[in-house]
Amino acid sequence: MPRGPRARRVKPRLPAWLLVLGLLLLAAFTLLARSGWFPGPGVELRRSSGQTTIAFLDVGQALAVAVVTTDGHALLYDAGNSARDVREVIAPFFEARGVTRLDYLLLSHPDQDHVGGMPAVIEAFPIGTFLDPALPSTNLAYLETLERVADRGIPAQRARRGQAFTLGEQVRFEILWPRDPLLRAEGDEVADNDNALVVRLVHGAVTILLTGDIEAPAEHELVVLEGDGLRAPVLQVPHHGSQTSTTPELLEAVRPEVSVISAGAGNPYGHPHAEVVNRLRAAGSAVYRTDVDGTVIIETDGASYRVQVERGEADGR
Ligand SMILES: [Zn+2]
Repeated sequence: MPRGPRARRVKPRLPAWLLVLGLLLLAAFTLLARSGWFPGPGVELRRSSGQTTIAFLDVGQALAVAVVTTDGHALLYDAGNSARDVREVIAPFFEARGVTRLDYLLLSHPDQDHVGGMPAVIEAFPIGTFLDPALPSTNLAYLETLERVADRGIPAQRARRGQAFTLGEQVRFEILWPRDPLLRAEGDEVADNDNALVVRLVHGAVTILLTGDIEAPAEHELVVLEGDGLRAPVLQVPHHGSQTSTTPELLEAVRPEVSVISAGAGNPYGHPHAEVVNRLRAAGSAVYRTDVDGTVIIETDGASYRVQVERGEADGR
């Protein structure tokens, strides 16, 4: 092919000042990219989305609630029945979201269906702070939990009403219950369920109330102390939907839009009790249950929230 005039044209040399400017821009861009100002390809803009995920994990007849923020913080409230729940449900949930450390590990009370998985959780994740009501207990999993917390030097705090914490930049949580003196059951023993840790978790305008296994006496005390301050669009229904809990006065104060019951299919306690489910629905709440829906996930940006379920449809309740 004959050479045209184009091919013979000599490229002009770049002026030196342009070369220097180019190198300076390249260096500046590299520094900014390293500092995280510009996301590289495939990097999520985690800080700007500001979502919080609250998962009522399907751990059968037990309780485990995981909270993960998009600015990289995580909390676990109760840990299911056993190490198997941790291996099969709790740890995979966190791992799928890139969580390698829990800022807070909360234990509502030392019953097996709440504490059973705790030793395995401490085994699987570094823990920032361990919080529990420090109730008297001979449960072996609880004693093992305390032992591991001490062995690993995890800061531990006895949870009482009035304490408040932050989880990342957008989420805060407060301990509403128990308070001293602790509630006593028949025979003057410290009540177990009724001194469970009640937590109000807040992201912007969205509040989630975690209630462990409290029953009517603790519910009454909370209503007296908080009144309408208990209002929350999302309620973890106390005590797996037992008929000893979720009193009309609690519902009147909380007025939940979404109620989540953690219960195991065919459990021997008859949880959740039909009367409680009906009461929640009559109060205008949608009712989700882990025995039917599997893991129930609430996602919020602090202004609104949406519900996702593992099985079936989230809508139409
Ligand atoms: Zn329980």
